[in-house]
Amino acid sequence: MDKKHSRKNLMKVAIKEHLKCTEYPRVGAVISKEGVILSTGFRGEKSGIHAERIAIEKLSSEELNDSILFTTLEPCIRVHNAQSIESCSELIIKSGIKETIIGILDPNGTVYSEGYKKLLENNIRVTFFNKNLRVAIEEKSFEYGKIDKIVGHGKRRIPVVQSGISIDIQFAENDTRTIKIRWSTLQFHHGCVDLLGQNGSIRAAAGASKFSDITEPMIFRFQSHFARMKKGEIAIVKPSDASFCVLIKLLEIYENDILFQWEVRND
Ligand SMILES: [Zn+2]
Repeated sequence: MDKKHSRKNLMKVAIKEHLKCTEYPRVGAVISKEGVILSTGFRGEKSGIHAERIAIEKLSSEELNDSILFTTLEPCIRVHNAQSIESCSELIIKSGIKETIIGILDPNGTVYSEGYKKLLENNIRVTFFNKNLRVAIEEKSFEYGKIDKIVGHGKRRIPVVQSGISIDIQFAENDTRTIKIRWSTLQFHHGCVDLLGQNGSIRAAAGASKFSDITEPMIFRFQSHFARMKKGEIAIVKPSDASFCVLIKLLEIYENDILFQWEVRND
């Protein structure tokens, strides 16, 4: 007879799948009926296919009927009409799955709580992983990398809420000149976050939409100790004692974290 698992154990099996992922964000999925595992899936198991879809496509419609899906991340929704493949939420709705147990809601602003809402609207019961398991998923879902020091130019996703993160931006691997910045006061619902620096070190690059637009960083006026930034905006940081400056662009804003791009420039 097939082994019967508790709900908590099935959550843990989904997290095991989650940890197999080599792509970010990590997602693991398990489908079960009466505690028996029918299938599993993880992101990266088949290239480009979401974990929920992988688990669902392993089963017949009869097996799926009245089953329960455990997924570590909120299922995706249709983001544009021309999308050739249906979203995982749509797939779940037509599959016969009766309940979806979600690890965490997607911090991506276009999906956040929309998958949850879509399932509820279509009479799928939605519940969540236990708190300590949710914390584990949150820590293991997104790649933050080393975040206290960054060099030269690049893009990085970093947590802001409850981290008050301070970052040293170093000019180059072999040039240790450094400018300090700090991110604070992420307001997801207002779509803004504060970039902090020393007195008078920050200027908003009003009118510029990419770094290459900025041929003369010091042309911009109105220096402040901070810039309240929205997605797509660029700021320039140059403390009075620094011999270079750094351009910062806010690329994306999520519930608890942000994606930003930076580039150092000799002044
Ligand atoms: Zn999906």
